[in-house]
Amino acid sequence: MQVRDNFEIKNLTTFKIGGRVKKLYLPETLEEFTGLLRELDNYMVLGSCSDVLFSSSGYSGNVIITTEMKNFDIKGTRVYADCGVKDPLISQKVCDVSLSGLEFLIGLPGTIGGAVYMNAGAHGQCIADVLVSCCLFDKQTKEVVFKQNNEMDFSYRHSILHEGRYILLSAEFELKKQEQEKIKELMDRNLTFRKTIQPSLAFPNAGSVFKNPENDSAGRLLDKAGVKNFDLQNVKVWDKHANFIINKGGAASLDVLELMVKMYNAVKDMYTIELVPEIIYIGDKSEKEEELCNILYKTKTQK
Ligand SMILES: Cc1cc2nc3c(=O)[nH]c(=O)nc-3n(C[C@H](O)[C@H](O)[C@H](O)COP(=O)(O)OP(=O)(O)OC[C@H]3O[C@@H](n4cnc5c(N)ncnc54)[C@H](O)[C@@H]3O)c2cc1C
Repeated sequence: MQVRDNFEIKNLTTFKIGGRVKKLYLPETLEEFTGLLRELDNYMVLGSCSDVLFSSSGYSGNVIITTEMKNFDIKGTRVYADCGVKDPLISQKVCDVSLSGLEFLIGLPGTIGGAVYMNAGAHGQCIADVLVSCCLFDKQTKEVVFKQNNEMDFSYRHSILHEGRYILLSAEFELKKQEQEKIKELMDRNLTFRKTIQPSLAFPNAGSVFKNPENDSAGRLLDKAGVKNFDLQNVKVWDKHANFIINKGGAASLDVLELMVKMYNAVKDMYTIELVPEIIYIGDKSEKEEELCNILYKTKTQK
């Protein structure tokens, strides 16, 4: 397994933001992974780092990156995937054998671990619709346990993994047989749609900044509140969709938090709605970052 000391995590995050972490581990098998989870005390687990704002102050603990664990298996309509399998890859592989249900993952730059954590979704589909069961590491007992879909506490962008007790090792999905042409058509439509409403990773970003409030769209509210012209020195709101922040180059986590608070306040002032961040803030915080996180994240941020 590869291990890196004092690693600059911005080299891995889609935001291109994040300071140094004490030690970075890249396990290649689930055995290596569970071995680390049993051995280390102070760690966080990440996949493709596409949903996180990693502190520019870094993280004084260990980071385990799952992307080298890439096993998957397809038997009939049942699909098994390690936590590190990339979302677009599994989407394509199941399409190749005419299975429908994971078309929405084609444009998500994440892993199965991050997708289950977030109950990722798009285009009317989400993980909870197709997940059968999960194989998890229980941090309390240090044992491997299994949970069925109805034990995963899934809701919009939420799963039991948010509680911090469990780490996803692998997941099983049940898909439906479908004509391949129809699956391909849907995937193409999803990709085309994304091109019009989401920035590519050529513009470093971490996806939607805020979650949609019930029966509304964060993008719509932000647009009406006039945030599209918010442009700070190193970060700006994407001019084609108000719920994305772009790192213009050289941005620090504090720059993003400052812009997020401006966006949050604009919507709060106009609609008295308090948007909830979708992007997860992680790592050690400066005093100023702590203050801004307290405004944005009413529930605790990770670490
Ligand atoms: C351009 C762009 C578009 C996006 N579009 C969408 C979209 O349409 N829909 C959507 O839902 N998301 C979207 N995202 C967000 C993101 O890509 C997905 O949520 C993705 O599934 C996260 O996976 P990841 O591997 O990058 O997770 P990471 O960012 O690495 O981690 C996210 C969280 O998951 C936890 N985690 C990761 N792996 C594990 C594991 N094995 N066990 C326990 N916890 C784990 C981490 O600790 C962290 O808290 C988008 C992001 C970008 C940059």
